[in-house]
Amino acid sequence: MADIIRLLPDHVANQIAAGEVVQRPSSVVKELLENAIDAGATEIQLIVKDGGKTLIQIVDNGKGMSGTDARLSFERHATSKIQKAEDLFNLHTKGFRGEALASIAAIAHVEMLTKTEEDEVGTRIKMEGSKVIAQEVVVAPKGTSMLVKNLFFNIPARRNFLKSDQVEFRHITDEFHRISLAHPQVAFNFYNNGSDVFQLPANNFRKRIVQIFGRKTDEKLVPVDEETQVVKISGYIQKPEFAKKSRGEQFFFANNRFIKSPYLHHAILGAFEGLIRPGTHPGYFLNLEVDPGTIDINIHPTKTEVKFDDEHTLYAMLKSTVKHSLGQFNVTPALDFEQDQNLDTPYSYKNKEVGIPQVVVDSSFNPFEAVKTSKGNSTSNYSKPKVEGWENLYSGMEVSLDGNSNLEFESEVVNSSIFDEGKEVVDHTTTTFQLRKKYIITTIKSGMVVINQSRAHQRVLYEKFLKNITIKEAVSQQLLFPLTLSFSSSEICILNEIKENLCTVGFVFGEVADDGVEIKGVPVLVAESEVQMIMEQLISDFQQEVPGDSFSQSDMLAKTLAKTLSVKTGETLDEFSQVKLVNDLFACKETTLSPFNKKVYMTITENDIERKFI
Ligand code: ADP
Ligand code: MG
Repeated sequence: MADIIRLLPDHVANQIAAGEVVQRPSSVVKELLENAIDAGATEIQLIVKDGGKTLIQIVDNGKGMSGTDARLSFERHATSKIQKAEDLFNLHTKGFRGEALASIAAIAHVEMLTKTEEDEVGTRIKMEGSKVIAQEVVVAPKGTSMLVKNLFFNIPARRNFLKSDQVEFRHITDEFHRISLAHPQVAFNFYNNGSDVFQLPANNFRKRIVQIFGRKTDEKLVPVDEETQVVKISGYIQKPEFAKKSRGEQFFFANNRFIKSPYLHHAILGAFEGLIRPGTHPGYFLNLEVDPGTIDINIHPTKTEVKFDDEHTLYAMLKSTVKHSLGQFNVTPALDFEQDQNLDTPYSYKNKEVGIPQVVVDSSFNPFEAVKTSKGNSTSNYSKPKVEGWENLYSGMEVSLDGNSNLEFESEVVNSSIFDEGKEVVDHTTTTFQLRKKYIITTIKSGMVVINQSRAHQRVLYEKFLKNITIKEAVSQQLLFPLTLSFSSSEICILNEIKENLCTVGFVFGEVADDGVEIKGVPVLVAESEVQMIMEQLISDFQQEVPGDSFSQSDMLAKTLAKTLSVKTGETLDEFSQVKLVNDLFACKETTLSPFNKKVYMTITENDIERKFI
């Protein structure tokens, strides 16, 4: 058989490598921003168009490249950052693989303009699908400008795989946050489709956080500072009361590089334990400085996962440092000392003086006599307690009938409001019963149905919201005083994406600024006090799962609203609400499954019951 193994041509190899390095426009932004930082730039501009699909440009004032270097930088494994394998263990730069430019040039139209301090003139190179189209000597300022156009122009499958412009823009913004937070001493300007997104002058870390996440962030921050032989931990955590439904503001940096570490994240959660509401996430911006020899950043191609030599020690230190900060800045006591009503002294003992308890000894007591007498059918020894004045213990506890009683009877709050609006629909002939504040039981011809109240209500609300979105007929209630909610700019970005759909369910928006929104009206089903929670939940759901098209966006919106607004297990429903829920459920298009594909009810037929009695 003839030999069949061949070396792949460079441009094919580059295209394959590009698959690892460049997944989407934000990957290009990350690589190019990192190159600019590595080149020692103090000012960086990022310009994108159409979510980076059409254009990404990064201009820096770094050290630039000579003509030869400029040409070489597009070769695979061409790097100025390491020379030998050992250098890998003493990295002070972001890049080191020498793959980024080669990969990007393999799948896009690239134009580089660069000049060093010493050179009189600069170099312009045009690349297309790994081929040099032009190289010329030009007049240029010191630094480098990289223009990347028509990403994936030669790989249509990958281009089609890209999400909407807004979603890609959001990914780019995330990368921008990470890099600009890691380098507050560098000034950044970010433009999208011709308008400003961020103008960040050089600053300290705290101010950079505030520049990015909005003015209101400042008051939320608690500094963290600890230096040991193994690690220097610095940065900020957010006060527990500002913990959010979304995970947005969680940043670890190791030696100025953004990293993801579920393990270290867990350490932070441990430190916040008991201080934040369940289902909410603490915010943090933490820098870990370690000896470059003790971390390995080589384990992931896009380099957000790193391996620390001594993770266990780091974990323990991080947890105790964060705990310490929470305590030191008086963050914990404020919450710890919240009075627990259950531990309060009851009734009128509260104001009584505490006396020394007295032991009263019955000198005439004879144990042998007691045995004797009990035999002799007498109960005299047990007839009277020997404590004098015991009746007084109960003074003040009398239940007076004039309504001035000190005793309060706990009453259950019956949640009927949600269903009030449709009382007239309720069919009074149906019998319903609520079991363990979780199930509604009702009779049908052939037996009975056991309905999970929360899931049933989710189904009802889900269909209602979906219908509202589709036919755009929602009714909203105007708020007397518009609500102003503050959000970070990336959260605003998500809100902008779903705003149109939110309007169709009945939200009315006022002004939308960079760091907050004004809400003027809410759907009739939504209470004003729930708005913040709903918005946070929505943003968090959309952050985690990015819906591709408008149908899945509506679907997700309806699901989130249904989940947030539905009655929960543990809520008592009055009879009207029970019957209304049953009727509403069976008027739905789909009755058996909740929007999250969970079983809504089960039936027990008369036969089933009879069989049990055999
Ligand atoms: P790496 O960053 O891993 O070295 P890249 O492909 O990203 O690989 O870049 C290759 C080389 O090109 C770098 O090592 C650097 O010498 C040079 N380079 C890239 N971008 C810039 C820039 N903005 N300014 C100066 N030099 C740059
Ligand atoms: Mg690089």
